[in-house]
Amino acid sequence: MQTPPNLEALVHNPSCVDDYDPNAMSVAQARQFIQQYLRPITAIQTLPLREGLGRVLAADVVSPISVPIDQNSAMDGIALRTAEAHQRLTIVGTAFAGKPFTGDIPYGCCIKIMTGAIVPDTVDTVVMQEQVKFDDHHATLLITPVVGNNIRTIGEDVRAGHTVLRAGHRIQPADLGLLASLGIGTIAVYQRLKVAFFSTGDELVSVGEPLQSGQLYDSNRYSLWGMCQQLGLDISDLGNVADDPNQLEHTLLSAAQDHDVVISSGGVSVGEADFMKALLAKHGQVLFWKINMKPGRPLAYGAIGNAHYFGLPGNPVSTMVTFYQFVQAALKTLAGERVSAMPQFDVECVSTIKKARGRTEFQRGILFEEAGVWKVKVTGGQGSGMLSSMSLANCFIVLDADVESVAAGNFVRVEPFHGVC
Ligand code: AMP
Ligand code: MG
Repeated sequence: MQTPPNLEALVHNPSCVDDYDPNAMSVAQARQFIQQYLRPITAIQTLPLREGLGRVLAADVVSPISVPIDQNSAMDGIALRTAEAHQRLTIVGTAFAGKPFTGDIPYGCCIKIMTGAIVPDTVDTVVMQEQVKFDDHHATLLITPVVGNNIRTIGEDVRAGHTVLRAGHRIQPADLGLLASLGIGTIAVYQRLKVAFFSTGDELVSVGEPLQSGQLYDSNRYSLWGMCQQLGLDISDLGNVADDPNQLEHTLLSAAQDHDVVISSGGVSVGEADFMKALLAKHGQVLFWKINMKPGRPLAYGAIGNAHYFGLPGNPVSTMVTFYQFVQAALKTLAGERVSAMPQFDVECVSTIKKARGRTEFQRGILFEEAGVWKVKVTGGQGSGMLSSMSLANCFIVLDADVESVAAGNFVRVEPFHGVC
């Protein structure tokens, strides 16, 4: 990879990098810029298996055993030798899961076998009981068996010495089960990334306080908390801070001292009360971008001391969209996770969408099923202050910068929210 331009140089002299224009950043460019300054956490801790759910593996996991450890039956039925299958067989015993059959199986004989029971080496197939006619202690096959059928072979799930999970993988419920199936009771994970956030704005009131005219409840700290929580981060909610340079300065500097990442919402545009820019110029190396996107045009990214800083626009939908589109992948990378692109696919859009060329839009959409086919519609009003549109939506409709209005019936690209989280 190319050496990234020094952050400080870029802040003070944007023209030091070709094609870098803070007033016209594309979504892809902004992502790329952020990515080059991210260094994953290195501190590791060892946890009991269950506590590892949602955490990021810090080391490859190599299986100490084969699963299954023996060949065993995939069905309830009889175990026999295919060469003897043409005749009526005598049942000489039963193999249960956890209670193997240890006797001999002479010529012309078979055993009953249950799912999960060890298949003796002296037989070569299992026939499910529905394909056998039983009378007294005898079995007659109703089908012609095939060697190896219904037998789970040693290591067919996992072979001893095989790497089952790689460092950088976020532990999912299936992984807990997989690791337990290998007898692994503890795992090494990266320590949680410490993330602090606060809101800015004189007009904001915290939930629980009465609301006066001209005020609104601070919702960003709730959506931010939810989005960070789903990433398994160590979160500090620093409350909402008035548009007061001293209070903002104090909050910012103390947050940067104790956290890996600081996120603020509001105050990064060019409004009169937007002090963040001056403050960050004084203490940090922070880039302010106008991104060619809607919603979420202004975005700040940089460093304050050793902490990464993200300044998100205050409008509630913009805060969420910029978090999902820029911050989330950065946090994952910093947390040690190997990040892959969010799944996107094309579906028919039943709504007409108005859009001007020039900006990438992230409209809020609802994926729904109609006569067995998945389609998408817009949620309705798309204002960046309309948080209800995020709540109604289950996907983004991603309209590239060069796309113009979409007529109903055309295909659009969607990014489902459960892929987003
Ligand atoms: P700003 O980015 O500070 O110019 O804010 C843009 C808009 O978002 C304004 O209408 C603010 O009142 C609103 N806003 C800013 N922060 C929040 C917040 N934490 N919760 C809800 N609305 C907010
Ligand atoms: Mg503000």
